[in-house]
Amino acid sequence: MMGRLLIATNNQGKVKEIKAILGNFYDEIVSLKDAGIDLEVVEDGDSFEANAVKKAREAAQVAGCDALADDSGLCVDALDGAPGVYSARYAGENATDEDNNEKLLKKLEGVTARGARFVSVVALVSGDNVTTACGEVCGVISHEPSGNGGFGYDPLFFVQKLGQTFAEIPLEIKNSLSHRARALEALKQKLGK
Ligand code: IMP
Repeated sequence: MMGRLLIATNNQGKVKEIKAILGNFYDEIVSLKDAGIDLEVVEDGDSFEANAVKKAREAAQVAGCDALADDSGLCVDALDGAPGVYSARYAGENATDEDNNEKLLKKLEGVTARGARFVSVVALVSGDNVTTACGEVCGVISHEPSGNGGFGYDPLFFVQKLGQTFAEIPLEIKNSLSHRARALEALKQKLGK
């Protein structure tokens, strides 16, 4: 499956992670910025999969090559899976990570069962073929933020096995066990290598 793969993101961290895992499949892996493409996809799907496929399809169409996109978020058991696909804008359209974390802590006030999952769905569009794969990582939502690393809900996402939040562990470790890494590994399996 050689040729060029466009990754429908401007997040350099994601580009690096994706190159490390799928580098053998393509001659060249480029981000939207590398390709000089300005793409703003409205993420209005009701599932991670719908949003990932939509982003990958639009990117493939604009670039005329294979494209990969991911969509991810936090699903909290006690909130019936919220914030889910609304993770980035949980506290409003222009919410900051701090606003979202604050809202989450408020919603979980007095709740003792605090299990949660980060979920990522990746979609690869190659011509008419669409391949998707999902990855998850389990944790619990802490009672207060801890750590300065990562982004989003990382300071509240406590992984019992590590005894730390995602914001407290080195990025290489987070990237090795993250929902995105797991989704990409699952995609690699589906692609047959
Ligand atoms: P996106 O899929 O990159 O658009 O991420 C959607 C939202 O989910 C982000 O804005 C974060 O709030 C949350 N999220 C996704 N992945 C992570 C993660 O690894 N750590 C913390 N928050 C995340």
